Amino acid sequence: MKAQTPGRVVFVGAGPGPADLITLRGARALGQADVVLHDALTDPTLRTHAPLALWINVGKRGYRDSAAQTEINALLVRHASQGACVARLKGGDPSVFARLDEELEAVRGAGIAVEVVPGVTAALAAAAGTLRPLTRRGSGRSVSLATAVTREGDVAAGRRADTEVFYMGSRRLAELARRLQAAGWPAETPVLVVSRALWPDQIASDHTLHTLCAASALHAGRPALVTVGAGATPLGAKSLHVDRHQSAPRGVGP
Ligand code: SAH
Repeated sequence: MKAQTPGRVVFVGAGPGPADLITLRGARALGQADVVLHDALTDPTLRTHAPLALWINVGKRGYRDSAAQTEINALLVRHASQGACVARLKGGDPSVFARLDEELEAVRGAGIAVEVVPGVTAALAAAAGTLRPLTRRGSGRSVSLATAVTREGDVAAGRRADTEVFYMGSRRLAELARRLQAAGWPAETPVLVVSRALWPDQIASDHTLHTLCAASALHAGRPALVTVGAGATPLGAKSLHVDRHQSAPRGVGP
């Protein structure tokens, strides 16, 4: 640890999973880190960028079962105050459903220098992995990234954009479908569910709001996204007949 130099914290987006989806800048930031605080979902092969750093798993499954956010904030401040260059490695992008606001406030409140390196958020990974652009000329002019579950644990959904992408909603699909229909989406609206987007075992499946509950069993226990509306629609009429289990990586085709 470089005790003489002032410490700092770099928030790094790891991307949606596979280690090669981190940015070059993110990899470089890892290489300069003395300490890496990482989430459970990040790929262990990212360690090759910082083999000598102290790696601390603060994800729900690793760190004392459930590291309270205040403990994570305190760890960031403590290590940086001791002069360490700390990388806070988060799945996807640090600015999207990753409690960056709270961690930034804690670190900046302690007078520590910070930087944020963006990453590929899961919505972009799901679009890429299924060849389903989030915007469509003429029919998809806006995109909403939303969490399906509120802080209070309720399912909330509206009709805000031509393409709506829901994070953290795969366990509550029946309720999500109900809420979306109540918000004005027709029962036949196309819905795409993608789990472990861009991993070799990605699964993607096509539904409508009416049939969405069928996705629960298929994607059970896997990080999944639900895309509704324009961005869920397959490209081209022919692709409606694509065999789900033939197209790469695995799942629906274009
Ligand atoms: N900061 C992250 C989101 C963290 S919230 C990002 O920008 O992507 C965690 C949720 O992200 C999961 O519940 C799931 O909905 C989604 N997610 C993360 N990785 C995913 C992946 N590879 N495939 C599908 N969904 C993913």
